[in-house]
Amino acid sequence: GHPLGMSDDPLFHPLLEGDRRALARAITLVESTRADHRSRATALLEALRGHGRQALRIGLSGTPGVGKSTFIEAFGMMLIGAGKRVAVLAVDPSSARTGGSILGDKTRMDLLSREPAAFIRPSPAANQLGGVARRSREAVALCEAAGFDIVLIETVGVGQSETMVARIADLFVLLLAPAGGDELQGVKRGIMEIADLILVNKADGELRATATRTVADYAGALRLLRKRPRDPEGFPKALPVSALESAGLDRAWSEMSDLVNWRRDNGHWDATRAEQAAHWFEEEVRSGLLARLDTPEARARMARLAADVASGERAALAAAREMLESLGSA
Ligand code: GDP
Repeated sequence: GHPLGMSDDPLFHPLLEGDRRALARAITLVESTRADHRSRATALLEALRGHGRQALRIGLSGTPGVGKSTFIEAFGMMLIGAGKRVAVLAVDPSSARTGGSILGDKTRMDLLSREPAAFIRPSPAANQLGGVARRSREAVALCEAAGFDIVLIETVGVGQSETMVARIADLFVLLLAPAGGDELQGVKRGIMEIADLILVNKADGELRATATRTVADYAGALRLLRKRPRDPEGFPKALPVSALESAGLDRAWSEMSDLVNWRRDNGHWDATRAEQAAHWFEEEVRSGLLARLDTPEARARMARLAADVASGERAALAAAREMLESLGSA
């Protein structure tokens, strides 16, 4: 029913005005598995889409202990000092298994969480990565509608979630610890390939010299990668930072800004977002089709047809056709 940019949902106007309570409640709706919540969330997102606000979405990944929350706190405070509104979302596919969540600990990001210009949202317990991806995208969209300038999307270093976050983000930052040359091999090539910026954290005190060497090692490794059309000369880059001492953060931010401005000027920003939208559309169709296979009737039919095929009673192709036709347009 409503034209684009209109909604009678009570969360609509407060959200557009940047109200953090309304934002939190809207994210709770997108995280819900209840059918009525989902349809309300879908209607809300559709109405908000007309607004066309865009945040800079920064994906941030690193293994536990590398300093993600320390970095986000320091970086977020720096951005707020520069007049930005900053949202932090956590994506943690492992919470499906552990039942816990990153960012769950209230003591993390103590300063940031007290800033009126900040919004911090821990990851919900999740069932599967597909669900995590959808909820994360929708939560990001809600933060954008609420007028946040920067949305930091934090994830732990497990390959699949990083690829997923990179497909939601405009920029992907990998946070690493100072390490010897051998440990450099531990970073998967696939992760290096999606990184726009590698930040070697803890470049302070006794670790400073090691951090400098690590930066050089990664810079060398990055130069060996094939140049991507969406990168200006010199990217991806490796830089040292100290989240603890808030050192190197302004440099990291200016590199991010340079990269983003270049991409905007060269049409890559819009092109990447368009590609991402197309990707997620296809993913939704795929997961919708899979969901149709996941009903008691469909499972029973699958089992029956599989048995028929195994016994030689039916040809595989014909049985597959029958199965697909039965899924129809439910
Ligand atoms: P996360 O698990 O990736 O979120 O890591 P945390 O932010 O919780 O940090 C893990 C540990 O590393 C904590 O003891 C931090 O104090 C420490 N740490 C984080 N950043 C730095 C840094 O820049 N320098 C040093 N020396 N320690 C840091």
